[in-house]
Amino acid sequence: MSQGSTIEWTDATWNPVRGCTKISPGCAHCYAETFSERFRGVPGHPYEQGFDLRLVPEKLAEPLRWTKPSMIFVNSMSDLFHEEVPDEYIVQVARVMQQANWHHYQVLTKRSQRMGSLLHAKLRFVERLGHIWWGVSVENRKHGLPRVEHLRNSPAGLRFLSIEPLLEDVGRIDLEGIHWVIVGGESGAGARPMRKEWVRAIRDQCADARVPFFFKQWGGVRKSDHGRMLNGRICAQFPCVTTQPVLAKEQRLIAISDVEAQWCHSLGQLPDRSLQVIA
Ligand code: SF4
Repeated sequence: MSQGSTIEWTDATWNPVRGCTKISPGCAHCYAETFSERFRGVPGHPYEQGFDLRLVPEKLAEPLRWTKPSMIFVNSMSDLFHEEVPDEYIVQVARVMQQANWHHYQVLTKRSQRMGSLLHAKLRFVERLGHIWWGVSVENRKHGLPRVEHLRNSPAGLRFLSIEPLLEDVGRIDLEGIHWVIVGGESGAGARPMRKEWVRAIRDQCADARVPFFFKQWGGVRKSDHGRMLNGRICAQFPCVTTQPVLAKEQRLIAISDVEAQWCHSLGQLPDRSLQVIA
């Protein structure tokens, strides 16, 4: 787990999977790919394999070890619902989130159909837990709005949208059943522009629907030049949260050994998909 994330809407990142493949225009300047590829071939570095997808099971139990209640962005460097991540492994990730319930988890995907299918089936045991937030990325109408429909039709305690990088006016968004909206522009080399009126239109829809709205950044090639003020103020609303007490140390240690025993068992049963498993 990485503590002290610089991402404005979370406290920490947890990456039991690393690497991904591009799926839609929002991926064009993927920061995770840029970061990972910087270290390809560096012996012993966590990203020695660059952005190639791989499971990192020794990371699975980390939230159970972390005693400070936090907002945790799950797989900031990957997509949990990537087609190459086995169902059994996703279930293991969900079991950890279920057990370490003093944290809040922000699970964000572009593979919304697979997330929905699993929430209807193998993930039913966590579908309504309020401390696990299920979200989809939206960058435009064509690719993003269908994901909103998949999310709305998924059983979930809390659903959110990350509308970033916002690449065009996405028009009317049906916010029925959506509990939180984040908006941000693209940053870094080659950043595509985001217009103020696109952002304001989403903010106004959220206000009308009484959905908490979080404006992350304007972005740009040098994002520090543009900041995150919207009409002279910072918009940083969150859904209401309730925090559970941290498990006693003895119980956490038992839970950690259970998780490790479970993933060892599951990984032994995984089909060979040419995935590199770092154990
Ligand atoms: S889905 Fe996310 S992590 Fe994967 S390539 Fe696209 S932006 Fe990067």
